[in-house]
Amino acid sequence: MTRQKIVAGNWKMNKSLSEGTALAEAIKNKLANTEVQVIMCTPFIHLSAVAPIVADTPNLSLGAQNCHQNASGAYTGEISAPMLATMGGIDYVILGHSERRAYFHEDNQILAAKVDAVLENNLKPIFCCGEPLEIREAGTHVALITQQLEEGLFHLSPEDFAKVVIAYEPVWAIGTGVTASPEQAQDMHEAIRKLIANKYGVDAAAATSILYGGSVKPGNAKEIFSKPDVDGGLIGGASLKVDDFLAIVDSH
Ligand code: PEP
Repeated sequence: MTRQKIVAGNWKMNKSLSEGTALAEAIKNKLANTEVQVIMCTPFIHLSAVAPIVADTPNLSLGAQNCHQNASGAYTGEISAPMLATMGGIDYVILGHSERRAYFHEDNQILAAKVDAVLENNLKPIFCCGEPLEIREAGTHVALITQQLEEGLFHLSPEDFAKVVIAYEPVWAIGTGVTASPEQAQDMHEAIRKLIANKYGVDAAAATSILYGGSVKPGNAKEIFSKPDVDGGLIGGASLKVDDFLAIVDSH
C-alpha cells in the first residue's frame, strides 16, 4: 500500500504579506520534481495571494492553520470553514496544533467539531496530536494520543476518515530544537497506525499519511523520514527558509 508522502510548512504568525508571497514564489520556483505533496499553511491574510501561486503546480498545495467550528455568527476575529472553502484554492486546514490547544484552550470536543466543519466544506484536516514533556516522562504518552484521536477523530465515517492527514507532534519537540529520536517517532507512529487499524481496518491504516513534527531540520529529516511509519513532516521554523524547507522536502 503506497500512501501519500507529505511535507507541510506551518508558517504560524510569521511574514508580512509581501514576505509571504515572496516565500511562496521562491518555494514554487525552486521546487524540484518530487513525489512529495508539499503544503504551505500560511496565515489567513496570505491565503488569497498564495492560492494563484500554487494553482498550476499539482504537488504544491495551500492550507490554513485553523478555522472556527461554526459556519457563521458572532465570533469576532474568527474565520469559518465555509469562508475558507469559498475562497478557492485551499485544500487543507491544520487542526489541533498544540499551540491552539495550549493558548486557545481547544479541547478534543471543540476539535471534533472543527474536523466536521472542515470535512463538510470539502477541505482536508491535518489533525495534530502530541504529548507534553511531563506525560512523556510519566510514560503515558500513548494513552494521551489514543484519547486525542478517539475524541477528536474517531467519530468520523470511514469515508471521511480517509481524507484526514495526522501529524504527531510531541509538544516538547516543537520549536525547542529537541527532536524526538527517529525510534521515538517510529514507535508512536506505529502505535497510531495500530489504533487506526483497530478502528477502521488495516487497509485504512496503511493508507493514512502520518507526519512527524517537532524541530525537523535539513540535518535530521532524512533519518526521521526513513522510518517505515513516518510519511513526512509538519515543519514550523524551517518552513520559513526556502532552502531549508526544500532540503527537507528532498529528504524523502
Ligand atoms: C510546528 O509548529 O508544527 C512545528 C513542528 O514547529 P518546529 O518545526 O519549529 O518545531
